[in-house]
Amino acid sequence: MDQGTRLDQSTRLDQLRGSGRAKRHNARTIAALTGNPGCNRRAVLDAAGIDKQRLAERVGHPGSFGQSRFALSRGNAFEAMLKADDCALLREVLAADAGLGYQDLGADTLSDRHEQTVKVLADARSALIDHPLLTLDVAGQTVYLEPDLIAYAHHGRLQVVEIKSFAIVDGQADSAKVSAAAVQAAVYVLALRDLMERLGQDPSTVSHEVVLVCPADFSFHPTAVVLDVRKQLSTLRRQLSRLAAVTGLIDALPAGLTFDLALEPEELVAALAHVEARYAPECLSACELSVYCRNEAAGSTAALGRTVREALGGIDSVGEVLDLAEGRREPTEDQAEAAAMLQAALRLRSEALSLVPEARS
Ligand code: SF4
Repeated sequence: MDQGTRLDQSTRLDQLRGSGRAKRHNARTIAALTGNPGCNRRAVLDAAGIDKQRLAERVGHPGSFGQSRFALSRGNAFEAMLKADDCALLREVLAADAGLGYQDLGADTLSDRHEQTVKVLADARSALIDHPLLTLDVAGQTVYLEPDLIAYAHHGRLQVVEIKSFAIVDGQADSAKVSAAAVQAAVYVLALRDLMERLGQDPSTVSHEVVLVCPADFSFHPTAVVLDVRKQLSTLRRQLSRLAAVTGLIDALPAGLTFDLALEPEELVAALAHVEARYAPECLSACELSVYCRNEAAGSTAALGRTVREALGGIDSVGEVLDLAEGRREPTEDQAEAAAMLQAALRLRSEALSLVPEARS
């Protein structure tokens, strides 16, 4: 993208955002970009740095987002316990080399911390690096990222260490939480590889295996597991390049369109209607606008999830599904296969219900 195009795009994004300050991304919001990759609405809103949580509130559909206060304080207490005495307990869990140094980069300002992180990594000294600060370019914005720790050890390999307070019980943990942690850690791996490249070092020294440290069973005692985040890395790369290429989407929007949070709610609703959404149930855990989009998508087959949408390709509304299943509507050529399947499903359901005495009465 040349300088002129970049400036034009940045002016257009400022216009879309209006008077509010651009909302900065963090590892969680970048990770959330992988949740619903096909949604144009989120791509545009995120590229413009619009505060989606406030937008959802303005249009009357706030969601409950973020961690509860209890989860936050449990998380902080767990992390403080692991990091006490220069990470003594964490070293035990990581089975880290006794000679492994410890460097706390908890400097005052973000830029100081980032500078120190770059210096330590450039020096390639074996250490547990606490409070590192990385950067990543997201749609032309520099985003600061704060991994819990970076372990620079194990034969010159760099490894991201992520501390989470959800429990691993009998070797099993909540799969949604583990996969969210894996995507978040992949964001740090990506940023770390970018940095190594800028330092003229081999990015592959940053391991695609990250260490997740969580409380074990029902205690507060820590345990560590290794996660391979290669799949998450390629999804993230795809999403970030898509976000950087929102020019096409933005060019297609009406001139003067804005999501300025100072507008009246009806005006914001009208503005949202100009950008296509792709609601899926997964949005509920990944996007601040989910309650609004779910409400908007009510009655559509897409709102029932990807499996239903794919199985019923070409049939957009639940009303149409019922009409086709009950034979009140002639299917088009494209719908014939799905209609036959729906009619068979309805027949089976009716047969099954006819065998249940309460359903007959
Ligand atoms: S909640 Fe809405 S804006 Fe967010 S990803 Fe889903 S469809 Fe897109």
